[in-house]
Amino acid sequence: MKKSTKKKHAPPKRPEHGRGLFYSRDSGGRHETTPGEYVQWATNKSKQLKLKFCGTPEAINRMIKAGEAVSGDLFFDVINGGEMSRTGLNALLETARNDLSVSHIFIPRRDRLARPGNPIEGMTLELEMRKLGLTLVYIEMTLDPILPWQRHDFGESIVSLVDFEQSSKFRIEHGEKMLYSHLQLARYGYWTGGRAPYGFRRHLVRADGSEVRELADGEQVSQAGHHVVLLAGPENELNVLKEILDLLLKLRASQVARRLNERGIPSPNAGRTRKDGGVVHVVSGRWRRTTVTNLARNPLIRAVTAYGRRAVGEFRRFSTEGPRPLTEADFHEDGSRKVVTNDQSQIMTSKAHGPAIIDDEHGDQLIKILDARAGTPAGKPRSQNPNPLGARIFDMNCCWPMYRVPYRDSFCYKCGLYQQSQPRQCHHNWVDGPNATKVGMAVLRQQVMTPDMIAQLERNLLDRANTSQQSGRHEKALATRKRELANVRQQLAIAKQNAAFAKSGELFQDISRIYEDLKAREALLTLEITKFETTSQSPDTMKQAIEAAIESIKQFPRKAEDPDNLEAIGELFRSANLEMFFKFHQVQIKNRLLNKLDMGIVTLGNAPPPIKKYDGPTGRAALKAKLQADNNDTGSDPLSKVKTNSVPGKKAKSLRKDRHAGA
Ligand SMILES: [Zn+2]
Repeated sequence: MKKSTKKKHAPPKRPEHGRGLFYSRDSGGRHETTPGEYVQWATNKSKQLKLKFCGTPEAINRMIKAGEAVSGDLFFDVINGGEMSRTGLNALLETARNDLSVSHIFIPRRDRLARPGNPIEGMTLELEMRKLGLTLVYIEMTLDPILPWQRHDFGESIVSLVDFEQSSKFRIEHGEKMLYSHLQLARYGYWTGGRAPYGFRRHLVRADGSEVRELADGEQVSQAGHHVVLLAGPENELNVLKEILDLLLKLRASQVARRLNERGIPSPNAGRTRKDGGVVHVVSGRWRRTTVTNLARNPLIRAVTAYGRRAVGEFRRFSTEGPRPLTEADFHEDGSRKVVTNDQSQIMTSKAHGPAIIDDEHGDQLIKILDARAGTPAGKPRSQNPNPLGARIFDMNCCWPMYRVPYRDSFCYKCGLYQQSQPRQCHHNWVDGPNATKVGMAVLRQQVMTPDMIAQLERNLLDRANTSQQSGRHEKALATRKRELANVRQQLAIAKQNAAFAKSGELFQDISRIYEDLKAREALLTLEITKFETTSQSPDTMKQAIEAAIESIKQFPRKAEDPDNLEAIGELFRSANLEMFFKFHQVQIKNRLLNKLDMGIVTLGNAPPPIKKYDGPTGRAALKAKLQADNNDTGSDPLSKVKTNSVPGKKAKSLRKDRHAGA
């Protein structure tokens, strides 16, 4: 081996008949036999060119199976051709740079090297390799190294550009074709690809729907006039699935997962390999909360197929109207492509070919329960920055709201004025976020979630229902319209009479236009009146509304059950209009001045706040102008009680506060 020189532009000296390396790429799925054949071609070619090259079809097949990108002289990537940074390719370039005995690179075809979004990227990659002193051997042509003093052939560059352009065009067209064919399949409830979900298997069917046979895992079939459908089974998985769907009515998903794990039931895909961020790993056999909820949210259990939940295409993506080009929203800031989760309305649903596993009632109930437990609409992940007390927590010293600030692994609320003012107008007053939330929940539990209180709310609601029934705005609107209709009809009669006198000429035209207008108005009013009369809230519908409201109140304790679901808790605080006020004082500890929490007050419902909440400007500049007035009352109880100034009719109660220390 020769010493490598780091001088700029120095052409690496390489032997004429040195070591050959093989590179190819596949976007995965169907490698079939081609990589093996390509390696055979490279072996034959290397003998012809008198090169040292070790590689066999068996070796590359073993590599692919093991998910390896490099093995001896073989380099292979399972990746789409648009991705220019790849494990195998990077290793190939690295090896070629460091090992100056490497003289030739075998690449079956240009599109195996790259299918770049921009053809220049492919051309540049080729040039880069040739400038390293390497000879590129394709099946159809050979490209010699480019030496620094050589001007490279213009015609060659054009051909390269066109080749790469065509291979990328192929990808766009291919992507479009795939989407269209998927769309077509999905429209008729056929499976568009991928592994069958738990409790289902892929079955090959004829165009008339008659079944041919079940497909093995990973088996690819493309037979004209045949399609793949998902049918329930096998029995053992189906039983587990049904059991999960029943259990979810009573237990939380995490509890269901625990039960299944305790019984040693293997999770879906247990033991199978999966690729995450390019790393192959074995799927664990354990059930998780999400494994369970995903099964219950799969529309297939209700005999509905859904297509288009995730948009992942490189150049064209799914929309219900057909493939669409990518837009800015499909890219991350760094230019890489996002996996976009489509909105519910963008998902195409069809009737599945198999029967439902659960009935509609059970299905509706499940979704309702899962949504309620998650505290969020279907599929929405919990917020990364929970702010249960957002705009409901105040510093009594300065009357400002306290703002959420990340703190270690958690968060805290800190005086907004302190955060905003350069000349310190207030102090570093803060409370621990989760602890303040706990205090709020404790108050809610004591004050609202008692059977007494629920009964009282129920009575209030019923009262309100009765009064609104008597003096409904509804009735007023109806009466107005009835009066107007009578008026319109009277005018219509007059117009008709007038028309009789003005049989001809312009006057008749005018009158008939007025007549038409009145007719239209009459029709509209009649329609509105019927609508009002039919939707007029009967005692029955009113009762339903009240029951729904009471039901949601009764759900308070359940929503509060999960102390980590800060979003659901925030929702509770909002619906109870809970607000918190904290008072602080400064203490000298050794040479440090600490801000200690004195006391807190929690208000609920329409109870008045204990302070006049600051409602001036909160921006820094505006604030500078405004001088802060009230500050630092003292004489508070050192035992620091949290007082509750609660719903009318309930006595305020003391709560032990959690410890908060200023830092
Ligand atoms: Zn403050």
